[in-house]
Amino acid sequence: MSTIIYLDNNATTMTSPEALAAMEPYYKEKYANPSGIYGFAQEIKKDIEAARETTAKLINASPEEIIFTSGGTEADNMAIKGIAYANKEKGNHIITCATEHHAVLNTVKYLEKHGFTASYLPVDKYGTVDIEALKKAVTEKTILISIMYANNEIGTIAPVDEIGKIAAEKGIYFHTDAVQAAGKLPIDVKKTNISLLSASAHKFHGPKGVGFFYQKKGTRMHSLMQGGHHEKNRRAGTENTAGIIGMAKALEEAVFFMNSPEKKKIKELRDRLENAIAEKIPDIIVNGNPENRMDNTVNICFKYIEGESILVYLDFEGICASSGSACTSGSLEPSHVLLALGIPHKTAHGSIRFSLSKYTTEEEIDRVVSSLPAIIEKLRSVSPLWKERKK
Ligand SMILES: *Cc1c(COP(=O)(O)O)cnc(C)c1O
Repeated sequence: MSTIIYLDNNATTMTSPEALAAMEPYYKEKYANPSGIYGFAQEIKKDIEAARETTAKLINASPEEIIFTSGGTEADNMAIKGIAYANKEKGNHIITCATEHHAVLNTVKYLEKHGFTASYLPVDKYGTVDIEALKKAVTEKTILISIMYANNEIGTIAPVDEIGKIAAEKGIYFHTDAVQAAGKLPIDVKKTNISLLSASAHKFHGPKGVGFFYQKKGTRMHSLMQGGHHEKNRRAGTENTAGIIGMAKALEEAVFFMNSPEKKKIKELRDRLENAIAEKIPDIIVNGNPENRMDNTVNICFKYIEGESILVYLDFEGICASSGSACTSGSLEPSHVLLALGIPHKTAHGSIRFSLSKYTTEEEIDRVVSSLPAIIEKLRSVSPLWKERKK
């Protein structure tokens, strides 16, 4: 395990030792159900409420506006279905974007089969949503705009302030999937006019299977889960106590890191990787917005070869990265995000995403830089497309 170079932090992150240590007592001595009325339970309930305060502070919300969930996917479902079902008589139209995570896209597609209509906004070549298209897409039936804060594949950060302003002006709820942004970018739901926000602990060194959802006070929503009166009747089910405590600890650490001089190390290492690749390897495209991109993400198309093959060779050297491709029913589909940028199928197939974390070291980046050119050269030497291009 020690030789693993983990550069897939947009897929998940290592749970920090501090978060893990904070969780441990809740699996051992502090095991009571927080709904209990005895002191043993109430003490744990208090710990959960402290975690709620920490979480709320991160995004400038009030604690009552935070609902704990099982992660980003649940929070996205909650936002989109919750708004749709509660506001049906007002309208049935939802606006989202072509480059959203599947947790949003497939939820909207599901609603399209159940009486709702949707607009999928286009993006420019950097993956930035088209604001003019957004303005045009709004109708009097529009009840929700759901646009992600930062893209998980290419790192492009959305013009959320502009989107929030448009949503507020038109009186439409604005949901943002902030799973990649939470704990990495400063977020202010009030300033940005966000009505609903999704986040997930395992993307910021918290545990898997826990996340949070921000629901602005006064938002009309239906609850997805029927059951007990947990989370003020908004999300039934016994609290994931340890997960919630671990998430709050990870958030505290994330905020500390965000405000520390160490923070710039991630971007420096990312740029080091990106620049070295650009210098050593011809025929590549760097994807994402060069100005407005997450510091930890680099997504590159290596023309004439398959991303999947690159991943296999990287894996031989203990390097973990990802390609945007998704295996659907046996055939490899290129990333919907890269296709939305206007990248041809063939090129999109050759994409690799490296996503760094605060634990990434210079030695690790340098090992990737020393391994990758030979891998690309080997794969291209047997690629018919590459031979074709050289003619
Ligand atoms: C990871 C991710 C999700 C899903 O979150 P889970 O907690 O894994 O369910 C949703 N949206 C984005 C942008 C993500 O990166």
